[in-house]
Amino acid sequence: KRLEELNVADTTCGYCAVGCRFDLYSDGEEILAARPTDEEDAPVNGISTCVKGKFGYDFINSDDRLTTPLVRDANGEFREATWDEALSRVVEGLGSIKDEHGGEALSMIASSKATNEDNYLMGKFARQVLETNSIDNCNRLCHSSTVAGLAQTYGYGAASISTEDLELADCILLTGSNTTEAHPVLATRIKQNVRDGADLVVFDPREVQIAEYATQYSRVKPGYDAVWINGITRYIIENDLYDEEFVANRTTGFEDVREAVQEFTPERVEEVTGVPHEEIVSAAETIAEADSCVFGWTLGLTEHSHGTENVIAMGNLAAITGNLGKPGAGVSPFRGQNNVQGGGGDMGPLPDNFPGYQDIADDEIRAKFEDAWDCEISPEYGYYTTQMFLAADDDDVRGMYIVGENAAVSEPGVNHAEEVLENLDFLVVQDLFVNETAQYADVVLPACSFVEKTGTFTNTDRTVQMVKQVMEPKGDSRPDWKILQDLANRMGRDWNYDSTAEIMEEVNSLTPLYGGVTHERVEAEGGLQWPCWDEDHPGTERLYEEEFNTDDGKANLQGIGYSEPAETPDDEYPFTLTTGRVLYQYHTGTMTHREEGIMQYMPSDFIEIHPDTAANYGIEGGDMVTVESRRGEIVVPAQVTDRVGPENVFVPIHFAESAVNQLTDEEHLDPAAATPEFKVSAVNISPY
Ligand code: SF4
Repeated sequence: KRLEELNVADTTCGYCAVGCRFDLYSDGEEILAARPTDEEDAPVNGISTCVKGKFGYDFINSDDRLTTPLVRDANGEFREATWDEALSRVVEGLGSIKDEHGGEALSMIASSKATNEDNYLMGKFARQVLETNSIDNCNRLCHSSTVAGLAQTYGYGAASISTEDLELADCILLTGSNTTEAHPVLATRIKQNVRDGADLVVFDPREVQIAEYATQYSRVKPGYDAVWINGITRYIIENDLYDEEFVANRTTGFEDVREAVQEFTPERVEEVTGVPHEEIVSAAETIAEADSCVFGWTLGLTEHSHGTENVIAMGNLAAITGNLGKPGAGVSPFRGQNNVQGGGGDMGPLPDNFPGYQDIADDEIRAKFEDAWDCEISPEYGYYTTQMFLAADDDDVRGMYIVGENAAVSEPGVNHAEEVLENLDFLVVQDLFVNETAQYADVVLPACSFVEKTGTFTNTDRTVQMVKQVMEPKGDSRPDWKILQDLANRMGRDWNYDSTAEIMEEVNSLTPLYGGVTHERVEAEGGLQWPCWDEDHPGTERLYEEEFNTDDGKANLQGIGYSEPAETPDDEYPFTLTTGRVLYQYHTGTMTHREEGIMQYMPSDFIEIHPDTAANYGIEGGDMVTVESRRGEIVVPAQVTDRVGPENVFVPIHFAESAVNQLTDEEHLDPAAATPEFKVSAVNISPY
């Protein structure tokens, strides 16, 4: 068929939080083409889509796609069930735990792959129907420390920039970000700016592909990010290279920072992080001399037992150099899953916040939601995801409802997570597939993918964009919001939403940040960036142009001292393992493992080992290697490469068969954000 004869919908990518918009062409149940929407209509796109956005649609019609609910039979095997039977089982399973132990014995994991509207209802369902505040999402495993660190410093826990600032910046500092693979279209924009003359400074334990474009690449020892950031900050302060006017007028706490960074001389930084002292000096001078600088990071900065401190240190650096609230300058945590900004945070599927980061412990705010939702809500914070799995050991959590997340592969210390899932009194999983987590479920509910429903996603630069239904739901699957509505009504509530537009109206009536966000406007204006206070507000391209979102309107800087990772290498486990993503895969592979073309490029996990290390252990490229930590072991093929340093190894996160999270640590969490330390695990390796 010719392109003009196909159905077409202008929608938003469901793979990563860059939020590329494209016209998706379909014929019946088949997606046939994705073409980038014009830049004018979609500010974060217009240049390209990566391989996943372009070709990643085989999963929709995969043979093992869930098309009907499943329940366990008397022998413990799954059998197909009607919606009526499956939902009745859920009501009985979750309801009996609530009756016997109270709602707080229940917990919910929401889905950053689902729409804003789905996630808003998950938060409402947890608090109003299940009567628990223990609801969280994948954000806990990645950027929660960003949210905690930036919110403490500036007031909002999100990127201050718009995507176009990556092309306007005179300098970009990137750390812990394999941008080319994890955020391909953003990487294209950064590379373009570098070709046009911008400086790019990359600090990373791995020499990731974007480092090829860098003015300076510095290899850092994993787990000591606050040290090198403080070193740069110290050099800038001590040499009077900071922005005195900005510091005087727009910040508090500068003296605290000055004092805290004193110990981080370039020589001391070299000793701790391995970065030559000259490179600390040159990075500091490049940043200080630039008219504008964007500070970009991904999970290399945040997935640590001191991730929040790392982010605060970075926030200090951006503020003392005056790089906030102006074109080409600001902080940019690149968010991971497609809707982790909106669904994972803004919509409030969180144990401590309602939508729009409104604190549940605040009496006035809680009263607003109690009134709107016609229920009582406890002011006590619930469990973060990582804490839910620890609390289950003491039977403080007995039932879980997991939507679109694969905890049995993605949680830290998955051997422990699997034990917890196995021993729960009742587990509901809502997903497109019987994933590894669903293997432990009592009931599995078939959900729809992003091409089978309508709603909104919010991308990494706070832009809310439309997601359009391209085709009918597969089989008997349903959009998450419809499943939740049915369940809520079976559990004594009276939800009557006719559309996701109606749900967004309820969101904006309760959420000042989204006060002017409606489907009508998002559609007509091609996207809206929050804060968008009311129907006349145009949205906010760049945060902090006039003031910060703090009590005194200033950036509240805090001095950050020295801290070590929770686990350091020793004779028994002499290497530091870091984990991360690759271009051709997504999350735990539930979608991408069903893409034939993609699997040809990246069919399995691997371990990156430095050539010197490989030679010492007699390992050659392609050899199978046992990787062992205090918590478990996996066997993966070797890639011998100097992308990693001799003391480090790297394994991607995408394969259940060799789940690298068997090696990571579920117990040592960031004290402010409860984020695990995925980026530092002491391991040993040996030929298999
Ligand atoms: Fe989708 Fe991200 Fe690729 Fe854009 S860069 S097409 S949003 S996966």
